[in-house]
Amino acid sequence: MSGPSRKTRVIKRININTDKCNGCLACEVICSAFHAAPRYSSTNPSRSRIRVIRDPVADIYIPVYAGEYTVAECAGRDKYVIDGKEYSECAFCRASCPSRDLFKEPDSGLPLKCDMCESDPTLKEPMCVQWCLADALTFEEREEEVDEAVAIDEMDAGLEALADKFGWSKLLDAASRMAKKE
Ligand code: SF4
Ligand code: SF4
Repeated sequence: MSGPSRKTRVIKRININTDKCNGCLACEVICSAFHAAPRYSSTNPSRSRIRVIRDPVADIYIPVYAGEYTVAECAGRDKYVIDGKEYSECAFCRASCPSRDLFKEPDSGLPLKCDMCESDPTLKEPMCVQWCLADALTFEEREEEVDEAVAIDEMDAGLEALADKFGWSKLLDAASRMAKKE
C-alpha cells in the first residue's frame, strides 16, 4: 500500500544575530525603498517590514520582522527585561494588529508583512540581508519534504487569511490577473 504522496517545499529563513546588530537601520531604509511604488522611488522606515528596537545607551539593538496580520489584539501580554531594562509589552511582537501602529502602511493603514523580497527575477538574498554589512542578518534556504495533504491544508489556510483581509472577489481578480501573466 502506498503512503501519502510527498511534496518538496522551500523554507526561507533569515537568522538574526542581535549581538552583531549595531542599529544602523540600513535594513529599514532598503526594505522601504525596495517596496516603494515605483521601486526605489522613496525611503520611509515607517513603511519597512523590518524595524529595529534600539536602545543605544545600553547598546541593545533587536531587529523584528513584520509577521502575520491579526484582526484582534491578543488577550495576553509578554514582559521583556533585557540587561535590567524593561521593554513595552508589545515591543518584540511581529504581528500587525489593531492595538498599535507598527507594521502598518502609514497612509492606508494596511498591514505590512515581510515577503522575503519576493520578486521577479528572484533575488539571491533578501535586500535587508544584502544591506546588513554587520552580518547581523543571514539568509538560509533549504528544501523540506511534507505530505501533499499538509501542503494543501497550508495553502487553504493562506487563501482563507487573504480572503478575510481582501475579500474573495479581489482575491479571485488578482489570481486571474496573475494566471494570465504565466
Ligand atoms: S542593517 Fe543589520 S546592523 Fe544595521 S540595523 Fe539592520 S540588522 Fe542591525
Ligand atoms: S526580507 Fe525583504 S521584505 Fe522582509 S524585511 Fe527584509 S527587505 Fe523587507
